[in-house]
Amino acid sequence: MMSAYRLLFLCFVTSGIAFFRLGAEPTPTTRGAQRESRATPEEPNITFNAVHVDGPYIAMTFDDGPSATLTPKLLDLLAAHHIKATFFVIGENAAEHPEIVARAAREGHEIGDHSWSHPNFGKMSDDGVRRQLQQTDDTIKSATGIRPTLMRPPYGSITARQKRWIHDEFGYRIILWNVDPYDWKRPGPAVVRNRILKETRPGSIVLSHDIHPGTIEAMPSTFDELEAEGFKFVTVSELIRMATPRQAHVSPQPNEEVPPRAIGSPSPVSSPAG
Ligand SMILES: [Zn+2]
Repeated sequence: MMSAYRLLFLCFVTSGIAFFRLGAEPTPTTRGAQRESRATPEEPNITFNAVHVDGPYIAMTFDDGPSATLTPKLLDLLAAHHIKATFFVIGENAAEHPEIVARAAREGHEIGDHSWSHPNFGKMSDDGVRRQLQQTDDTIKSATGIRPTLMRPPYGSITARQKRWIHDEFGYRIILWNVDPYDWKRPGPAVVRNRILKETRPGSIVLSHDIHPGTIEAMPSTFDELEAEGFKFVTVSELIRMATPRQAHVSPQPNEEVPPRAIGSPSPVSSPAG
């Protein structure tokens, strides 16, 4: 049995080493804070591509709508499953079909700002980005009565500086994703479903698009399977509210400022990922 003295000595040595190691770091306080939140110091709690949660909660997100035909179909399906989702709408489409946006909000779904016409923010002036977001913000407000608090940049393309000023001016959180079925490539419903099932974990933010028929076709069995695995569906804002203190959000992907779909894509214009 270990004597109390030896135990004390060991404790002293261990904490001494820990202290020495910390002391040897250039800026222990900053590094400690970084480890704690897993965020880069300049963008705490602004950007999310997944959320660290204790339960089996996930957020399904649907981008680039509303579509006159497909979004109502999806809303019927979500209602039948009692699933709450998040729609990142294009301002132009929302202005054309405000009644669909209003229905989605009324039925408990969250509406986020996905720009007015789906440009690449990373290559735009601040004023251009501001107009894209404000027009869409106003359109969502007039359709639903509620201003959005979430924004998803088209193609996931946004600079760290843009994130900060957009957050400061609009109060938006920047929502990316960690599950991507590449449904915009229209690989067929079975592939879309299988990719989502394979990658989804508790806290996942799942990206897909309610403007592709195959995506909507994939959803009934996707929802069935996810439910069978025990997942519970919440909106993105609900998911963020569930974040556990440790690792409240995941750091941005290192390459997120490059439009993910533009790389090696033969036709970036027709590939509206994000
Ligand atoms: Zn998009």
